Amino acid sequence: METGGTMTNLAVTSSAESSTLANRIPKAAILVCLFCQLPFLTSCAVNPATGSPNLVFMSESREKEIGLEEHNKVLSSMSLLEDEELLTYVREVGNKAAAVSHRPDLEYTFNIIDSPEINAFALPGGYVYVNRGLLTFMNSEAELAAVLSHEIGHITARHAVQQQARGRLAQTAATVGGFVTAVATGSGYVGSQISEAASIWAQTGLSGFSRDHELEADSLAAEYLVKAGYDPAAMIEVITVLKNQEDFNRLVSNTSGGYHGLFATHPRNDTRLQQAITQVGGISGNEITEADDTKFRESLDGLVIGQSQGSQATDARNRYYQALLGYTVVFPDEWLIDETTTTVTASNAEQGSIHIEVQRIQENLEPRVFIRDEMGIGALQKSEKLEQYRLLGHTGVAVSPETGNTERVAAIYLGPRVFTFRAEITDAEASDEIDEQLLASIRTFRAIQQGETASGTEAKIKFVQASEFFDFSVVAQSSRIANYPEESLRLLNGYYPRGTPEAGEWVKLIE
Ligand SMILES: [Zn+2]
Repeated sequence: METGGTMTNLAVTSSAESSTLANRIPKAAILVCLFCQLPFLTSCAVNPATGSPNLVFMSESREKEIGLEEHNKVLSSMSLLEDEELLTYVREVGNKAAAVSHRPDLEYTFNIIDSPEINAFALPGGYVYVNRGLLTFMNSEAELAAVLSHEIGHITARHAVQQQARGRLAQTAATVGGFVTAVATGSGYVGSQISEAASIWAQTGLSGFSRDHELEADSLAAEYLVKAGYDPAAMIEVITVLKNQEDFNRLVSNTSGGYHGLFATHPRNDTRLQQAITQVGGISGNEITEADDTKFRESLDGLVIGQSQGSQATDARNRYYQALLGYTVVFPDEWLIDETTTTVTASNAEQGSIHIEVQRIQENLEPRVFIRDEMGIGALQKSEKLEQYRLLGHTGVAVSPETGNTERVAAIYLGPRVFTFRAEITDAEASDEIDEQLLASIRTFRAIQQGETASGTEAKIKFVQASEFFDFSVVAQSSRIANYPEESLRLLNGYYPRGTPEAGEWVKLIE
């Protein structure tokens, strides 16, 4: 299927586990560890956004403090996109929404993460992030404003803080070892510690934020959109972008069973969602003043789609590819790698080692049960589920029966196989720190994406006006997109699975 170095892979092929830009299932990272370490404070503080009593009170200065700490973790684990023009524009749009939000005086910080993943997230205290990948799928300033407003909504309604009160955070926090996000879709950013836990607008339980919180964020977003002069219908458009990704993904990856769709119904048919949005969207007398997308197009023109050289470089040095078994993982910095046909061991004499083995799935065991019954590890501490890159697994810490050293173990299911990880910590003094590294490494395990290893030139967005004869299938034929070019172009332009732009309408092509 690989058609040469100049092609761009935007879509997946047959492997159920592999995925790339155009079809990454929307999922959101939920990070929360800081909150679970906080003492439980309960009071009747009033939620600034909803006006209802908060379950938990946290002072704004403490909230900002946590935000800053977590922001620094984001900076150390992800690369920011350094595109001054685009960044200035995103900040401008974000600040328009923030200014009409329930917490206009909070100082908001908007940043773009240089990742192809379709995601956005927020931290308490005013930190909002949007991935380059999500930006490429936006089709108007109003849609961008909708995404940023949704994140602002989580911040103004203090969802992260409230969530903790319900005890949900402790669990999600443990999964992540990171910060707090709220958001649009999945992260799973390679090399970062963010797990792809679930989605925004996802089901309760999977997502750290409940469906109620997501709806509330949508509803607040619609309100901010209206107040800022945007068409609140953009909220539905954005959610449709995510829904379409999911539909497409299901189509090409042939996933069935086991994996829950994030959307039970299409956003357009989702009554609760519709209500949440129209209640505020219907505020009478509002006027749409922000409908000119010239600046939007100028700012996005030339934006890299898919892997950028920058985002690839981040972890390329330590990334290991097992082509035969179709997986890749990032080992800790400067560890030595020793491989056989089916196993690999990465080690550092002073710190520890990770050993990965594989076997066929014989029985339909839950990963946790697999660790107990098949790996023979009964007493598992720090036991938690792994959910990353659409893969399921389990991990925990045990004591190695042979050496008595602490051992991080994990089992992750990928296709018809289960991959087992035994990672021993030799330096007991730095046990926690090394364990963190080992877990971070395990969390980077995923299927190799189509064309991932092939180095190609960057593909960029180009806006053109559709002619009267515009036809996605025709444009697709000369596109640089290697796989599913028509579907990819449709997804990028909000015309999936069907529809055709009218003459004169602006469309995004890839060059
Ligand atoms: Zn959200």
